[in-house]
Amino acid sequence: PAVGSKQYSLAVLHGDGIGPEIVPASVKILDAAVAAAGATPIAWTELPLGRSAIDEYGEHTPTKTLDALDEVDGWLLGPHDSAAYPEPYRSQLNPSGTIRKHFGLFANIRPAKAFRGGNAIVEGTDLVIVRENTEGFYADRNTFAGTGEMMPTPDVAIMHGIITRAATERIAHEAFQLARTRDKRVTIVHKANVLKMTTGLFRDVCREVGKQYPDVAINDFHIDAATVHLVRRADKFDVIVTENMFGDILSDLAGEVAGSLGIAPSINSSATHAMAQASHGSAPDIAGRDIANPIAMILSSAMLLRWLAAKFDDEKIARAADIVEAAVDLTVAEGATTPDMGGTSSCSGFADAVVAATARV
Ligand code: ATP
Ligand code: MG
Repeated sequence: PAVGSKQYSLAVLHGDGIGPEIVPASVKILDAAVAAAGATPIAWTELPLGRSAIDEYGEHTPTKTLDALDEVDGWLLGPHDSAAYPEPYRSQLNPSGTIRKHFGLFANIRPAKAFRGGNAIVEGTDLVIVRENTEGFYADRNTFAGTGEMMPTPDVAIMHGIITRAATERIAHEAFQLARTRDKRVTIVHKANVLKMTTGLFRDVCREVGKQYPDVAINDFHIDAATVHLVRRADKFDVIVTENMFGDILSDLAGEVAGSLGIAPSINSSATHAMAQASHGSAPDIAGRDIANPIAMILSSAMLLRWLAAKFDDEKIARAADIVEAAVDLTVAEGATTPDMGGTSSCSGFADAVVAATARV
């Protein structure tokens, strides 16, 4: 077949909370953008995950879901509310952790970009957090699977973290390569004054890798100092590379500084698999009211299209990603935002406006 005519097979996992609202909204917009780009329609498969999968299959992430994911080109993962699952599910590694681990999705790329008219705390914010996704201080995600935390007695809890040269090199290359497509600046975030061995190794290995990218400027901050700079001067950052837990916290902060947690997208990837996932959680406090902001999920889906475009050298699907982003920009600029961004649109109303905008960008 000619370049650009590839048909992609993508899976959707609605998840919990606002997932069944924001995921279908994103699917609708992707379909419209793919059509506007003249690309072949996406073949969608819906797969069970989360609370509904517990009820139906007795597993939050059924084996048949994992097997099916291995057969598709990529997928959209809705958020999950694993804290609300009954035991034993609540104590297990959560759905997104299970999927990240199963497929070795080591890179979590989380952009934070302010929209014109988007209620940003720091106007002009346009940064990307590159979060290492497999180790650090997040127990069940690290390579000592399942043993990252322990309680020797009911009154003592211990956690450990792990940083390896190999995983740090891998994520550092992601960050420096990404910086080359942007403003060519990488900030390493660590806490090497206290966590000297672990985050010290992270900083040192990132700096070593940086020597292979002499065209990219490097600086580094302690995590606490980084939060201060982000709140006031988020617009001064380009690419931030950091370990798992710092990246989780910093990306929520960056998303909010850029306007709302509800606009912060992310993609989780390895060399072979990619998963679109909003940076935010399942927002149970606003679920079922059609007021969630679908932008984070929509832009995560656009990141997945871009990842596919790079993997298959497919200009048409890259064009579809451009159309999604431009249509969201236009819709926000015209004022049709959800309440978290200061507007009065519903989730579905916003999505319909973006679908309509795909024909105008
Ligand atoms: P998790 O551990 O799953 O990330 P969390 O405790 O960080 O969960 P979130 O579910 O991300 O919590 O919600 C944090 C706050 O942000 C809540 O008040 C929620 O309503 C709000 N929020 C999150 N996502 C959105 C969204 N898409 N639109 C509007 N508000 C949102
Ligand atoms: Mg969170």
